[in-house]
Amino acid sequence: MVSLNQNFSRTVFVLFVLAFFSLAAVTWFYVGGAKSEYVISPSDYDFRYIDDTPRGGDTLGTVSSAKDGKGAVLQCTLGEGYKWPFCEIAISLTKKIQNGIDLSNYHSMVIEASYKAPAPDQRLRVYLRNYNEEYSNTEDPVSLKFNGIEYGPSETMGEFVLPLNSFQVLSWWISDLNVPLKNAGPELNNISLIEIATGSAPVIGDHTLTIKSIRFEGLMVTEAQLFRTLTFMWMTVVMIILGLKYWQSRVTYAKERRRADKLKKINSSLRQQSETLSVLATTDALTGLRNRTEIYPVLHKHLKASKKQHCSALCIDLDHFKAVNDTYGHDMGDRLLVDTAQILRDATSTSDIVVRWGGEEFVVFCPTRNLAQATFLAEKIRYAFENYSWSHGESMTCSVGVASTSNSNVAALIADADDALYQAKQAGRNRVEVYVEALMAS
Ligand code: GH3
Ligand code: MG
Ligand code: MG
Repeated sequence: MVSLNQNFSRTVFVLFVLAFFSLAAVTWFYVGGAKSEYVISPSDYDFRYIDDTPRGGDTLGTVSSAKDGKGAVLQCTLGEGYKWPFCEIAISLTKKIQNGIDLSNYHSMVIEASYKAPAPDQRLRVYLRNYNEEYSNTEDPVSLKFNGIEYGPSETMGEFVLPLNSFQVLSWWISDLNVPLKNAGPELNNISLIEIATGSAPVIGDHTLTIKSIRFEGLMVTEAQLFRTLTFMWMTVVMIILGLKYWQSRVTYAKERRRADKLKKINSSLRQQSETLSVLATTDALTGLRNRTEIYPVLHKHLKASKKQHCSALCIDLDHFKAVNDTYGHDMGDRLLVDTAQILRDATSTSDIVVRWGGEEFVVFCPTRNLAQATFLAEKIRYAFENYSWSHGESMTCSVGVASTSNSNVAALIADADDALYQAKQAGRNRVEVYVEALMAS
């Protein structure tokens, strides 16, 4: 079983690892770990020369390696033979024009170049040519979409950053090829050709463009993606932790409930056992009547419940019982005692309490009877004894002493009734005697 403490430290550990990971990811991002680059250097790619001569122009030029071996140099003398004279460097990124490179995940094109023209403020055109079978075909190079931009480079060697979202599709290309609207926007996902050409309004004369490198810069993940992912991770982990905690609390709750139910059952069975034991302890095994054990608290309870001022008691003793035992044996004596208990039960009412006081002596408490009523009951019992057909086939009698009290002193009441019983024995047995003082008081 996993303790609460262990659970807590496991949660803290998971959160700590997650926090560490998040911090590391954010740091990695801001120190530039997410940057991605695609470099096109003249040493790895073929930088070709193109000009206007196929269209009737008379421009002359070449593309050669730079003197230091780092870069490609375009040198051309623009002529006036063609209406829109130009020369350019063309770089094929792939062998087959239909298998271009996806540049859509990059945000900038960085060109490290210097440009010398016959006049100041001469510009360059940059085209990223995209192949898409919806409008391109492999036979016609013009069918590759012209994503273009024109910019003013520096005469000295330096980097120039062209944001890729500033590239526009040339309008003449859209109209010449009758391109539908859905294909008219910039598209950089299948670029197979890059062209860097003299500007759209160039001056005639010598142009020299030196390109050291071209590279595309992007991010493997954007800031938004990073934070979205981190947020998602945190939410997932927190949800899992909360879910586990909820599940754990349910399990603990169910376990505690089962324990409580079990304890309740044990409790109730113990209570039952204790009740049974208490009944056994206060019941006479032979007759099934109450015995003397704990009789005083029971009587006090009854006296309280009856709300009457008086209480009466009968002390009953079998006459010459020893002789019966001696003649018929102890077992027969027992049978007669059991019969005696039945006679007493039959004669009394539910408000009376019949007790086997000991041996062949019985006490009947009557919390609801006054002296006269108790005396009547005593007489009834004596009569029942006299007329009962006893198992040993002989007659048997009893003597009864009756007493009554109005002050709830039970011990004194029993002593008085016992006194009266003694009188009954003395007077010859098989009779009822009332305690004298009680008689005078009544
Ligand atoms: P008395 O009329 O004066 O009461 O005479 P008695 O013989 O009844 O009185 P005594 O007290 O001398 O004898 C009581 C007898 O009751 C003695 C005893 O053997 C018998 N006895 C007491 N308890 C039991 C019992 O549980 N079973 C049987 N069989 N006899 C019992
Ligand atoms: Mg006796
Ligand atoms: Mg007796």
